Amino acid sequence: MNLPLIIRAEEHNEKRAITTTDGSFTYRDLLHTSSQIATSLLQNTEDLQEQRVAFLIPPGFEYVATQWGIWRAGGIAVPLCVSHPRPELEYVITNSGASIIIAHPNFEDILRSLAEAHNLRFILTSEMLPHNISNLPEIDITRGALILYTSGTTGKPKGVVTTHQNIQAQVTSLITAWEWTSNDCILHILPLHHIHGIINVLTCTLWAGAECHILSKFDAETVWNRICDGDLSLFMAVPTIYVKLITAWETASKERQKRMSEGCAKMRLMISGSAALPVQVLEKWQSISGHFLLERYGMTEIGMALSNPLHGERLCGYVGKPLPQVEVRLVDENGELVPTGTPGEIQVKGPGVFLEYWQNPEATAKAFQDGWFRTGDTAVVENGNYRILGRMSVDIIKTGGYKVSALEIEEVLRSHPDIQECAVVGVADLEWGERVCAALVLQGSQPLTLQAFRSWAKEQLAVYKVPTQILIVEELPRNAMGKVTKPTVVELFC
Ligand code: AMP
Repeated sequence: MNLPLIIRAEEHNEKRAITTTDGSFTYRDLLHTSSQIATSLLQNTEDLQEQRVAFLIPPGFEYVATQWGIWRAGGIAVPLCVSHPRPELEYVITNSGASIIIAHPNFEDILRSLAEAHNLRFILTSEMLPHNISNLPEIDITRGALILYTSGTTGKPKGVVTTHQNIQAQVTSLITAWEWTSNDCILHILPLHHIHGIINVLTCTLWAGAECHILSKFDAETVWNRICDGDLSLFMAVPTIYVKLITAWETASKERQKRMSEGCAKMRLMISGSAALPVQVLEKWQSISGHFLLERYGMTEIGMALSNPLHGERLCGYVGKPLPQVEVRLVDENGELVPTGTPGEIQVKGPGVFLEYWQNPEATAKAFQDGWFRTGDTAVVENGNYRILGRMSVDIIKTGGYKVSALEIEEVLRSHPDIQECAVVGVADLEWGERVCAALVLQGSQPLTLQAFRSWAKEQLAVYKVPTQILIVEELPRNAMGKVTKPTVVELFC
């Protein structure tokens, strides 16, 4: 049996699937190119048997065809992040145990040398298209499909493994709730190594037989130009992006503002998620676009869990009710259900919940309680709607929609020759949700400028993890047990 995603694509053959600055590509193009890529990957074997294939390709048709090619060859897709420096790429490649690396020529140097260092098969996208297409394997949907890396409260990021079945459940839940159809047309501006961009936007589009306009990178003016074209029906973004679009709208001429707002009015739905949507942003966006943003809540491990309604009243500051196929409950610290109106940890169950953390049975076991996934987020139910109260760990920071671990950043900062001790915190910020800030205790007499510090850190960490503000302190605030008191560190930056 072919994967359901592929069977559905065959029904839409001549319809446009992907549009980029390079042109438009139909579902037939996607099926053909992905089968060529699958053939290249297979060489003379019949099935990749869940070998991990890491790939680094800018957003566009080649990215999508490669992801499908990996799936059709029986591999597990491991998307790499275009903005990651070498140590982060190397971590994902080695932790996932990838046996093949696929690179767009833009990333040839860095990835070829990583492939050589770890003795892995290396393929350039430009060299991947054979003329003869071989028979492709039948893929059972219970097999692994995707590994996405996500930060937790301990150690390095963990690989979240989802099966084709998990992805199907995550996608069909959203297709039902938000009434996707093949007439939809969405603008894709999100990173393609994160669930929001891969599942909610890209895979929902392709499952529905709709059209995805992919921008190679986010740029507020380009997004507005596309919105002004008036042919989009859907838009999804993180709050930070809405803030940037609001700023661009505010600096535009009156005439352009009118066209921008008219473009928004032609859409049927605009959605925000991956971080808390500030009330001011929701209200400002409503005045600009006429849309009351639909806010939803989800996580790499579970897909989307809660959503305001497509029809009916959306509540500001709330994330609505459980989505189709998703069970949600709130529990106290003893794992007991809390009474309505009492805050508790969000736990989630359902077919969209991931299979496991890659080769980390201990972390997987810890993440579940009686078959329920423990999100580590707290919420309260008021009048039947969930309101997110925050995260249970201060060491998880959400910045620009990215989830980052304070502990992981601290570990890297401690390797700086002038840094003796450090504490990384998230500080509330209207544009970024939270800003990554670091209090540093220096050793030696060398001064450390923010610029020098950041350029050093960018070599080690993804740019969104690099602190944007540093504070040099004599010592870190600690409690009687000697533990750094993070709330006091936060106050230093306010
Ligand atoms: P990620 O796995 O990177 O998508 O991050 C998931 C985390 O983002 C959740 O555990 C929440 O802490 C946060 N999150 C997602 N959506 C929302 C939302 N609508 N409001 C507040 N926090 C959110």
